[in-house]
Amino acid sequence: MNLTHPFLDADGDKLREECGVFGAINAADATALTALGLHALQHRGQEAAGITSFDGQEFYSSRGLGHVAENFSSSEAIAALPGMMAAGHVRYSTTGGSGLRNIQPLYADLASGGFAVAHNGNISNAQTLRDDLVRRGAIFQSTSDTEVIIHLVATSRYPTMSDRLVDALRLVEGAYSLIVMTPTGMIACRDPLGIRPLVMGKIGDATVFASESVAFDVVGAELVREVLPGELVLVDFDGNVTSLHPFGNHRARPCIFEHVYFSRPDSVFAGHSVYEARKAIGQQLAIEAPVEADLVVPVPDSGVPAAIGYAQQSGVPFELGIIRSHYVGRTFIQPSDGARHSGVKRKHNANRALVEGKRIVLIDDSIVRGTTSLKIVEMMREAGAKEVHFRVASPPTAHSCFYGVDTPERSKLLAARMEIEPMREFIQADSLAFVSIDGLYRAVGASGRDAAHPQFCDACFTGEYPTSLTDLARRDDRDAQLPFDKVA
Ligand code: SF4
Repeated sequence: MNLTHPFLDADGDKLREECGVFGAINAADATALTALGLHALQHRGQEAAGITSFDGQEFYSSRGLGHVAENFSSSEAIAALPGMMAAGHVRYSTTGGSGLRNIQPLYADLASGGFAVAHNGNISNAQTLRDDLVRRGAIFQSTSDTEVIIHLVATSRYPTMSDRLVDALRLVEGAYSLIVMTPTGMIACRDPLGIRPLVMGKIGDATVFASESVAFDVVGAELVREVLPGELVLVDFDGNVTSLHPFGNHRARPCIFEHVYFSRPDSVFAGHSVYEARKAIGQQLAIEAPVEADLVVPVPDSGVPAAIGYAQQSGVPFELGIIRSHYVGRTFIQPSDGARHSGVKRKHNANRALVEGKRIVLIDDSIVRGTTSLKIVEMMREAGAKEVHFRVASPPTAHSCFYGVDTPERSKLLAARMEIEPMREFIQADSLAFVSIDGLYRAVGASGRDAAHPQFCDACFTGEYPTSLTDLARRDDRDAQLPFDKVA
């Protein structure tokens, strides 16, 4: 992720995952596998894509703005990245006009040889480390926090690459799932709390790594297991796989929002089917917040599994009362609220014949700013809905994420500014309810949230961040993130 503040999405009312990674080693078609795998992870980052490969002698790199298909569909593009090992990255673009130099994988020639890294997550003390490195003479090529890792590896005095990487990562706080390539093989690793996902798979003699298991389905690989929190998995060119756990024992805190929204529903995350988890959240929501209604309508597409669960639990029929156009180009950078509103209308349309005269329960995965929710409620009323009840398949999002997810600053989050009733008034719904934090935990297989040792990162709901946030504590705009009086 970039150290400068990221752009907000045009329809701007979702938290947005910023990166996806894929790697393959000991594969005759490593780059083609990586391109296919990245394509399956496109939802995790749609503004830029890059692949780096290694043929035993040289590293080759190709990075560009746009989708994976725009950069890596031709046979020429694949042939330009030869070798048995490749790693790739998809990400969102950022401010600063420095797009290309920040596109990953990042590469550097170190004293020990080439070093390429693809990173999903965000280092929450990157600026502090960077300032220190710059004071000591380091010259940075990008504004990416990932480059900090490269400089720390370059200046480590340990003899082996894995030791140098561990030495570097001991200084880093925050979230990282990394795929590293060196002349001796691939290293995949996850931060000690396992905040961002990373899974390992097999296809023939090849070992593959990806942000989500869906990428393995697409390339025909078998899911072996998750890379464990705090684990480094080293794979060499003879196929030897070594697992290291250098960071001691920590309780895992994977991001619970992967279940709510980020991951594709056909992925498996933290041992659970994302689709089943989303349905279970909907069932939980129906138990906690029932309402007399004629139809359960999902806000497409992310609200669909939770709406199915809500309908099954409540007995209220599930119907597609909103149709999403799949042909609306994703318009990037529309910072004004007015422009965002028009984006909503082009993307979604009420199914008037179905909705007219009905009491509707709308199901969405989250409310971030509230602008999209307001427009969708208005749209249902314009289509003749008699009542519009809003149900949300996550607790109120009242805190920003600092772990590789693009969130607005706290003062822009509707749930940070308002209690539930003013939120209901703001989005103009007849009623509004969110699933409880314990209900969310139950839906993903826990018996509830363990307050002493939460089983997931849930900081965007609870404000309890599982790591230090060193850079935030130093920033001038920290007041925007601090608690303030809510509209009650
Ligand atoms: S703060 Fe929220 S979005 Fe960010 S890692 Fe934690 S649970 Fe996920």
